[in-house]
Amino acid sequence: ARLVIAIDGPSGSGKSSVSKEVARRFGLAYLDTGAMYRAVTWWCLESGVDLDDDAAVLVATRSVPLEMGTDPDEERILVAGQDVRAAIRGDRVTDHVSAVSTTVPAREILVRMQREIIHESGNRIVAEGRDITTVVAPDADVRILLTASQAARMARRGRQLGAAASSNLQAQVVGRDAKDSTVVNFTSAQDGVHLLDSSELTMEQTVQGVIDLVIR
Ligand code: C5P
Repeated sequence: ARLVIAIDGPSGSGKSSVSKEVARRFGLAYLDTGAMYRAVTWWCLESGVDLDDDAAVLVATRSVPLEMGTDPDEERILVAGQDVRAAIRGDRVTDHVSAVSTTVPAREILVRMQREIIHESGNRIVAEGRDITTVVAPDADVRILLTASQAARMARRGRQLGAAASSNLQAQVVGRDAKDSTVVNFTSAQDGVHLLDSSELTMEQTVQGVIDLVIR
């Protein structure tokens, strides 16, 4: 039977780890839509596209040779056959990703690709991002907004990046939230979207919280 689980949330909410684990528990596919925005950004930087030029960003997004895997146990993100998993998490991409995510026509293309991937999974997937519950899959079987206090998000981001954590982590997280919120407002839950605050929860408790919402 179909089971589409849509999870939105800001960076550092634990969205990716939680979504992956929920996918494993239910035997579902997994889609990281943020990785798609990052991959397009990497592609623009790599091919010398001026990120301030919306038309150029649109052309690049339309033609990006992107291959997204959906196995929660094995991340697979290829651009023009090149493994970009590490590169898209770097500061260079992170600092520029909002140039792509604020380009509305580029979003439309990515949203279309995301809907195709969800469809191709046989509608058995956990899809996570910023606009999954509202735009990409408002018809999802379960829609969750995963939140966390700014302090909790910062602490997680720091642990996630480990030694590579840059000193301006707070500026990065807060700055990206501010840029993102001009496009997608993930602070106000829509009708039928369950709010799950993970600030005081461990990863396992958060996974359990999602599972409870799915099986209830
Ligand atoms: O989730 P992640 O931090 O990897 O997302 C990277 C960026 O991609 C976000 O900061 C946001 O600008 C953009 N994004 C988006 N819509 C999504 C997923 C990500 O605009 N559904």
